[in-house]
Amino acid sequence: MKTDIKSLTYEQLNNEISKLSLPKFRTKQIFVWLHQQGVKSFDKMTNISKELRQKLSESFYISSCTVEDKYVSKIDGTVKYLFRLCDDEFIESVVMKYKYGYTICVSSQVGCKMGCTFCASTLAGFQRDLTAGEIESQIHTAQQDLGIRISHVVMMGIGEPLDNFDEVMRFLENVNHIDGLNIGMRNITISTCGIVPKIYELMNKNLQLTLTISLHAPNDELRSKTMPVNNRYPIDELLTACRDYYKATGRRVSFEYTLIHGVNDRKSDALELCEKLKDMQSHVNLIPVNTVLERNNTQGTKEDIIKFSNILKNNGINATIRRTLGADINASCGQLRHKKGVK
Ligand code: SAH
Repeated sequence: MKTDIKSLTYEQLNNEISKLSLPKFRTKQIFVWLHQQGVKSFDKMTNISKELRQKLSESFYISSCTVEDKYVSKIDGTVKYLFRLCDDEFIESVVMKYKYGYTICVSSQVGCKMGCTFCASTLAGFQRDLTAGEIESQIHTAQQDLGIRISHVVMMGIGEPLDNFDEVMRFLENVNHIDGLNIGMRNITISTCGIVPKIYELMNKNLQLTLTISLHAPNDELRSKTMPVNNRYPIDELLTACRDYYKATGRRVSFEYTLIHGVNDRKSDALELCEKLKDMQSHVNLIPVNTVLERNNTQGTKEDIIKFSNILKNNGINATIRRTLGADINASCGQLRHKKGVK
């Protein structure tokens, strides 16, 4: 079995280079090719001799992904990709243009185990974790396809990033590396459905990234109905972890709250949410639910959403309504892969 060279951290690569009795400067050269340039083959490493490239390809392979389908929104230019991996699995990524640059939303797993009832990513179950190199490849392939440089990363695609902790950590280290894509931690967001022990593990890494929690309900009864993870890690435990996270890292935790009409968007839900978050430094991002064909959820009206948002604001909770991008291309996660009829 060959090793995925793109999933190695700089230090791990350096160890491999010394095992091959090669000089240290080779590590940097190879790392730059892999991570800054995003090359898909050793033959592209033109400042490295043919013999060495041959040697590398005997022990290693370079993980990558290719564009299977691509949809460009006519409304706002958002690009949604269906990427094919080396083993013919599919994942999705979305590239969005903001005033401050391009943001990519990447997947962390093929499918998902979490089983949230409103989400398309979980419809076909879980296939496997992505490697660090595969997570990063989504950025390389999108950059190369669009001829742009991506400055921000959100881990809100298919999968639960904290359920693939080690690969995600290696991905973060590499994407942040000065000889790699050099994307600042503050430009990276990890979204989780709330795996409490992993939040603490992340806290101990003390990274300057943004952690955002998919909350979607103000109490256990409601949350457990749509998010099975809540049975394992109830809301109060989750919020305690968030408070601890803030204390330890100084980074304010954000919350996502997907509004499903008649399920969690009532006035009483908004008031209960205020009560839950009142003693926290927080920010709530309200997301009108994206209707997934297989899921029986509907969006409220614009007025319903504004009303919910105003209740939060009037009670001192920071709230914004997420701008919908790529509405004409099904830009929310999981839907393309599912449409493709994956097992
Ligand atoms: N597993 C992680 C990250 C992936 S989902 C997490 O749970 O946070 C990214 C966000 O999209 C989550 O907040 C998720 O709850 C939300 N989401 C999933 N399906 C949705 C839908 N149909 N409409 C709106 N948001 C949805």
